[in-house]
Amino acid sequence: MSHIVVLGSTNMDLVAHVARAPERGETVTGHGFRTHPGGKGANQAVAAARAGGTVAMIGAVGEDAFGTRLRQELADAGVDTELLRLVPGPSGTAHIVVDDAGGNAIVVVPGANGSLTGLAPGDEHLIAAADTLLLQLEIPLGTVLAGAEAARRHGVRTVLTPAPAQTLPPGLLAATDLLVPNEHEAAALTGSRDPAEAARVLLDRVPEVVVTLGARGCLYAARGADQLLVPAPEVDPVDTTAAGDTFVGALAVALGEGRAMPDALAWAGTAAALSVQRAGAAPSMPHRSEIDASAGVVA
Ligand code: AMP
Repeated sequence: MSHIVVLGSTNMDLVAHVARAPERGETVTGHGFRTHPGGKGANQAVAAARAGGTVAMIGAVGEDAFGTRLRQELADAGVDTELLRLVPGPSGTAHIVVDDAGGNAIVVVPGANGSLTGLAPGDEHLIAAADTLLLQLEIPLGTVLAGAEAARRHGVRTVLTPAPAQTLPPGLLAATDLLVPNEHEAAALTGSRDPAEAARVLLDRVPEVVVTLGARGCLYAARGADQLLVPAPEVDPVDTTAAGDTFVGALAVALGEGRAMPDALAWAGTAAALSVQRAGAAPSMPHRSEIDASAGVVA
C-alpha cells in the first residue's frame, strides 16, 4: 500500500459556457453553468486515492458552502481530511468561461489556499509517516518549500508538479526527488522548448525528471541513464482537464508500491488515458480496477 500526503490547493471550479467570451464592459448570456471541485492538490489527492493509495491532504478550505463541499468530495473519495484547515473567508475558486470554440479564460482567486502560510503542528508527523509527498504551486511557495524540506528530513520521496509555471523559491528543487513538469512548464523552467534538452538541464537540479507530453506520453530522465520515452495509449480524448494530476497521482501510488519506474510510468499513462476519455476533473479519474484492467494487469 502506498502512503501519500498531498500538500496543496483545493478550489471550486465555477464554469460558465458561452457562445463567445464577453469584451471588457460587456455582458453576455451564457447557456450553461456547472460547479466542480478542483485545485491541483485536491485533484492529485483524489487521483491517488482512486488509484489505490492511502491518501491524506494538507490544505485549507474557507468557511463557505464551497468549503463544506470540497471537504466532503475529498472524504467521499477516501482522502483523509483531518489536516485540511477551515479558515475564515472564502474557499479558493476558479472562474472559468468556456466558449463554443473550446477556448477558455480563467480567473483563479486563491482564497483559503492563500492562508496556508507554513506547516501546522501535526503536518510534519503526517508527512514523516508517508512514503511520498506530492507538491504543486497553487499555495504560498514558502509552504511548498517547508513541506519539501520536512519530507527530506524524514526520507520521504518528494514529487513536485511545477504548475502553474512560475519562478521557484531557492532550495525547492534541491529538496525535490522527482520533478514532473508538462512541456510548457519544462520550457518555462529551462528556456528550452525541446523536452529532451529541458530534461537534461533539469537533471542538474533534481535527480529524476518526467516531462509529460500530452498524447505523446512522457519522457523520463535520470542522472547517469539514457532517457526513456513512454508512449501514451492511443485514445479519443474528450476532455484533458486534470490528465497531468491523474498521471501524478497514479504514478505516486505505483512507485510507493515499489514498482520500477518504467512500469510505474506505463501504469500512470494508462490511468491518464482513461481520464481524458471522460469529462471533468475528479469525475474522470479512474479507479484502480479500471486502470489494472486497461493496463492488462492480472489482479
Ligand atoms: P499533459 O499534462 O497534457 O502532458 O498530460 C499528462 C499525461 O496525460 C500525459 O503524459 C499522458 O500520459 C496523458 N495524456 C494527456 N493527453 C492525452 C491524450 N490525448 N491521449 C492519451 N493520454 C494523454
